Amino acid sequence: MSLIVKIGKKGKAAVKKLLSPVETHRVSYTRRIERVKTDRRILAMTFDDGPADIPCSPDLFGGRSLTDVILDVLEEFGAKGTFDVIGDTSENYPDKAGAPGTAAWGGIRYDHYPDIGKDASGGAVHNDRLMRRMLEGGHQITNHGYRHIIFGKKPFVYGKRVYLGSFDAAVEDLARLHRFMSEEYGYEVTMGRPPHYVDRVQGGLSSYDVYDTMGYQYMAASFDGAGWLPSTAGDAQTAFEDEVRAMTDPVKAALEKDPDFFCGQIIFQKDGCNMAKRTPVAVGLRRQLEILSGYGYRVVTVEELMRESPFTDVGRDDPDFGLFESLQRSHAIVFSDNRLRPDVQMKNGELAMLLCPKESLLERRRRAASDKKATLYRCAMEICSEKGLMPAGLREDGAVSGLPEGLFGRTEDLTRRSVFRAYRTDR
Ligand SMILES: [Zn+2]
Repeated sequence: MSLIVKIGKKGKAAVKKLLSPVETHRVSYTRRIERVKTDRRILAMTFDDGPADIPCSPDLFGGRSLTDVILDVLEEFGAKGTFDVIGDTSENYPDKAGAPGTAAWGGIRYDHYPDIGKDASGGAVHNDRLMRRMLEGGHQITNHGYRHIIFGKKPFVYGKRVYLGSFDAAVEDLARLHRFMSEEYGYEVTMGRPPHYVDRVQGGLSSYDVYDTMGYQYMAASFDGAGWLPSTAGDAQTAFEDEVRAMTDPVKAALEKDPDFFCGQIIFQKDGCNMAKRTPVAVGLRRQLEILSGYGYRVVTVEELMRESPFTDVGRDDPDFGLFESLQRSHAIVFSDNRLRPDVQMKNGELAMLLCPKESLLERRRRAASDKKATLYRCAMEICSEKGLMPAGLREDGAVSGLPEGLFGRTEDLTRRSVFRAYRTDR
């Protein structure tokens, strides 16, 4: 094919993609959990970047640490937080602070929590008392990276940032904090959120591959609590009040419009300073909880929220909820956006994911990482055809036309729901 034809074809494909983006979500072990399906007034709040053993700013709490203040407020409302903690940023040098009010406020090459030069006041490693207080209070701990270093390159916003140079380095950084929580506290972490939500990992892999290896779910959020957002309004006092309002006004407005708005949502919060080195969360959190409890909301951990329903699109009112709920524990049946889509046709790639043993699949995928075509689906279909479960050469996005004999009961209808119903989980 000539170069011009090739470029022309690529251009056409790009335009087509822009006009009608194809559904790119795929069945995945790791699912991005933004919210879950429920009509009960329960929600979760995640607190990133702590613990922070520094006084609030402005200090309206007599020097009490920010994390203590957050825990005090949560406990007062009977709320359970989800603390997306870091391990320790004191190895993140040489570095210097960037301009206040920008993303580099706490360091140009790295992040430092709670602040540059104050690394020893932050992180799980330095804060045994706060970690025990969280755990004893029934709050959840998730993995935000030992050193809070972005997994891969992120031009523009974080162009000068050091990133973890490989898949193995990303896994090792998470494993370091995972081991710490397990050895020090006997606590098994089950979820994580990548620093700055950067998903790309060098070598053609992504944060989803990293979490697959860790056995984690990807903890995202559906509503911004805004505690990180700096205001430039007037003097420091005016700006602070503005920042607190930015945390509360949207919550109030959303509930006035729809009292059930927050059912199943995850609110993003900050256990640290905002970019202007103030801590509006210390005041704004209480106001948010006052508003939410006025509507009868209960704040639970993300783990508990997922016990209500582990899916974004299917809740307890679905007749097959119990079947789906138990199958998702051991099998890849949910799409990466945490939707189950039970009533669409089952595709070959999805069926292969259901049938393929996890360990051998992940191993093959990692070995073939540099091959862009070696997606999880492709690897799963290869393994299934080697095992004689599926014929070779099928299109991964082709609709399933039959089911492997012996593995399934009878079904004519090949929607995802009926395939799950027919699948013999007792094998
Ligand atoms: Zn962070």
